[in-house]
Amino acid sequence: RSKTNDKRVLVIGLGRFGSSLALELVAHNWEVLGMDSSPRLVQAYAESLTHTVVADATDEEALRQIGAQEFTRAVVAIGTHLEESILAASLLVDMGVPHIWAKAVSRRHGRILQQVGVHHVVLPEHDMGERVAHLVSGRMLDYVEIEEGFALGKTRAPREVIGRRLGDTGIRAKYGITVVSIKHHGEQFTYATENTVPQKGDVIVVAGKTDDVERFAEIN
Ligand code: ADP
Repeated sequence: RSKTNDKRVLVIGLGRFGSSLALELVAHNWEVLGMDSSPRLVQAYAESLTHTVVADATDEEALRQIGAQEFTRAVVAIGTHLEESILAASLLVDMGVPHIWAKAVSRRHGRILQQVGVHHVVLPEHDMGERVAHLVSGRMLDYVEIEEGFALGKTRAPREVIGRRLGDTGIRAKYGITVVSIKHHGEQFTYATENTVPQKGDVIVVAGKTDDVERFAEIN
């Protein structure tokens, strides 16, 4: 059966989400079996994915034939067809696939997928919408909520810290955030320490409670 170092993933549904995910995995040297009921889509990705197959993921026999039960990881990337998504996910659960991810189009869909036994539910539209809200309303250059209430934010180094050792600025105590990385103009991101001295135009990544990260991005 599956080894822990096996780098194979079954991706069901090659729509926008599934195909992007599958291509990214291939780019990182994973072996991807891409499956879709649409011959047109399968044709489109036949060259770029390791293996592709036209099959119906709600057909248990079809799943067995492609060896779905042998995979350690599978992604159900069917979104809009709720019934298909839930059925495909529950078949994979029954087959004992140990790590199943599934895309949900709504919180309710996500809840059902979880109840069916899916291990990781992702809500791409919902999550991206929330994320963009933080960019639109604030001054952050980028933003990721790692989990409820805790975030990483990318922002310009505020005037208050320019030319000063981070350790001397007291910004952690004052704003509740930690500067984790810094990028000087034209250079790459590197980690920040208490000895880092930000310069004008530097971009920093800060970590902290969501509200604190937001508040800090506003002080410029
Ligand atoms: P996206 O928003 O990422 O494009 P969609 O929900 O539109 O996602 O696409 C999901 C893909 O899943 C479609 O290409 C569709 O053909 C495929 N699909 C839907 N039902 C099944 C099924 N039962 N078996 C295999 N593929 C399916």
